[in-house]
Amino acid sequence: MNALITGGAGFIGSFLAETLLSCNHSVTVLDDLSTGRLENVRHLEGRPGFELVIGTILNEHLVDKLVERCDIIFHLAAAVGVELIVKKPVESLTTNIKGSEIVLDMAYRYRKKILITSTSEIYGKNVNGPLKEDNDRILGSPLKTRWSYSTAKAVDEMLAYVYWKEKGVPSVIVRLFNTVGPRQTGAYGMVMPRFISQAIDNKPITVYGSGKQSRCFIHVKDVVDTLIRLVDEPKAVGEVFNIGSQEEITIEQLAKEIIKITKSSSKIEYIPYHTAYEEGFEDMQRRVPDTTKINKLIGFKAKYTLAEIIKDIINYTKSEK
Ligand code: UDP
Repeated sequence: MNALITGGAGFIGSFLAETLLSCNHSVTVLDDLSTGRLENVRHLEGRPGFELVIGTILNEHLVDKLVERCDIIFHLAAAVGVELIVKKPVESLTTNIKGSEIVLDMAYRYRKKILITSTSEIYGKNVNGPLKEDNDRILGSPLKTRWSYSTAKAVDEMLAYVYWKEKGVPSVIVRLFNTVGPRQTGAYGMVMPRFISQAIDNKPITVYGSGKQSRCFIHVKDVVDTLIRLVDEPKAVGEVFNIGSQEEITIEQLAKEIIKITKSSSKIEYIPYHTAYEEGFEDMQRRVPDTTKINKLIGFKAKYTLAEIIKDIINYTKSEK
């Protein structure tokens, strides 16, 4: 298959490209290098079947050309990271809504299958857990910038769904829960690369809020293997799936684990949300996926434990320093 990966120079996209190439598929990466990085895909350049196109999903002409010649689209391009969304809300909304609309429209024009990556942010402040795909979304005011990400991604999901229902575009939607791994940057707020880097440098570990909020982290390799298997399954079309681990940990506990594993002399520094993000910032206190639906369809289970994930990222981070 000839896959087009939008956002393919990002951390998840680059692993997806690598895995597809190693299964002898062709891969075209489209990335504007806003949050993606050339270093993420440099090792793929020159590999048979690999092509890198630097450009934006907002360029209709370019997207038209690339979609026409692919068999399948993995749409990963998006403004991601809570800090980025809060700092650059206009750009983030435009990329996430207009960009996805352009990509979906081209999928419709050329009748191509498309996988759309969404997020656990969709569930907002719903602290019930584990969260099922059809659970309610609980969001704060639209004037709280954080919720613009959840809203933009919900529009993407709706677009993907109605393009399937009304126009027959074979679309599959996935909601990713805290995907982590080597190559992820901490520059846009993601907790795992930040804590690991802080611990290795023996600098204070910046825990936001009380640290009692919890997350489940999944290794990027588990995610990309699942995406590839999912697009092969005809029953996935027109559906939405949670993808995530169920190994829950509080952020404070995560900081302590990382300090222990790295044998760091770092101390935890608690930073209020309004200092870390903006006045009135609301966090989700708990986010655990229910993965029954995807498990039933393709037998999903995260292979990497949290301890293995942390060690993998530590090794990578040390090799990069
Ligand atoms: N977080 C933190 N310190 C940091 C970065 C993030 O305590 O330096 C917290 C953040 O407030 C959230 C959790 O870690 O409660 C996960 O944040 P991330 O941005 O990685 O993912 P998301 O909020 O999307 O789950």
